[in-house]
Amino acid sequence: METKLYNISSADDACQLAEVASILRSGGLVGIPTETVYGLAANALDAQAVRKIFIAKGRPQDNPLIVHISSIEELYALAEEIPEKALFLANAFWPGPLTMVLKKSPAVPDEVTCSLPSVAVRMPSHKIANAIIKAAGLPLAAPSANLSGKPSPTTAAHVMHDMNGKIEAVVDGGECEVGVESTVITLCTEPPVLLRPGAVTLRQLKEVIGDVAADPSIFSKPGAELKPSSPGMKYKHYSPDAEVIIVKGELPAFEALARAAGEDAAVLCFDGEEKLFPGMTVFSFGAEDDVSAQAHRLFSILRRADELKVKRLFVRYPGTDGVGMAVYNRLLRAAAFRVVEV
Ligand code: AMP
Ligand code: MG
Repeated sequence: METKLYNISSADDACQLAEVASILRSGGLVGIPTETVYGLAANALDAQAVRKIFIAKGRPQDNPLIVHISSIEELYALAEEIPEKALFLANAFWPGPLTMVLKKSPAVPDEVTCSLPSVAVRMPSHKIANAIIKAAGLPLAAPSANLSGKPSPTTAAHVMHDMNGKIEAVVDGGECEVGVESTVITLCTEPPVLLRPGAVTLRQLKEVIGDVAADPSIFSKPGAELKPSSPGMKYKHYSPDAEVIIVKGELPAFEALARAAGEDAAVLCFDGEEKLFPGMTVFSFGAEDDVSAQAHRLFSILRRADELKVKRLFVRYPGTDGVGMAVYNRLLRAAAFRVVEV
């Protein structure tokens, strides 16, 4: 199959949007930009189309998808029960990078939820994503548009790299602003539980609805005794080919460790630290206190490390405050939970 690339820079581009909408309405797959990462979209109400997402990504059959909507009315068709807290959260953070897990309505095919009784729903703020959902007139099931296990795509080129020839189209809407996937919270429990950290932080959630618990699998390796409530958290994720090692400690100790590792090792450090590693491949993911920049750059750096055939990547520990919780959660999985303290 030839994957058609659309370059859509404005939500007013009715002609191209209509073409993309028609692909989705006829059961095709389209890589679409959102403010978090690129999504691999299909008609969420078409079980056959949704099955194709799992095939294109090589996604495990028990990892459910997020359904993307463009208006609050659509939520009522997807969820059976909408607690008051969900409406407060929608009011505060939609459109935006927050996914809510709610009791599902029978209208949602089991293929979307992997037969769970709940459904995950999000209203993206990206103008092009919103325009595509509106033009299609459908809720869109869309996991991240990467091959399963690879870093999520934050540019159309990343999507093409993983999906060229496997899906009908990719819409280039520029670089994703946030850079990590949405915050996921379940409202099926009391208190609600944060399942995956993202740009909407735990503190922001608590400010709106009070008590929110954090799933233990956010920072811990799932195992026999720890079963994550969000199926996606149990898989190895976001991994570049390189061995990733997170290093906790002061800069001089980090510097000594990384430099001793030799020239085929690379470094992911904070802005301004690059000059400490002459002769090595060095990436910088933002100022030490700029967690939003770190989130924005993380996945494209992991992909760039693969292009450069980096064997080992030593990463400065980013901290876990605010959006840092999301950055560290993704890094831990990229590193297969390898953390060394120096
Ligand atoms: P992705 O869209 O690739 O970022 O993955 C979607 C994430 O949402 C995965 O971690 C899923 O496990 C999670 N998810 C989707 N639906 C549900 C659900 N019904 N209950 C819990 N987690 C969900
Ligand atoms: Mg994903």
